[in-house]
Amino acid sequence: MPKKYECQVCGYIYDPKLGDPENGYPVGTAFEDLPDGWECPVCGAPKTEFKPLDQGLYE
Ligand SMILES: [Zn+2]
Repeated sequence: MPKKYECQVCGYIYDPKLGDPENGYPVGTAFEDLPDGWECPVCGAPKTEFKPLDQGLYE
C-alpha cells in the first residue's frame, strides 16, 4: 500500500492518491516511483528530505 510522505522542510505531504499532476506525475504515482530528481513542489527540497508519514506502524 503506497505511503504518504511528508517534507521535513515545509510540511508538504505527498499523497500517492493525488500524485503531483502539476509536475507530470499522475494520480496513483507512489512516492517510491518518483525519480530521484523530483523535488518538493512547495519548497524544492529533494526526496531525501521526505519521511514516510506512517513509519513505525508496521514494525
Ligand atoms: Zn517542502
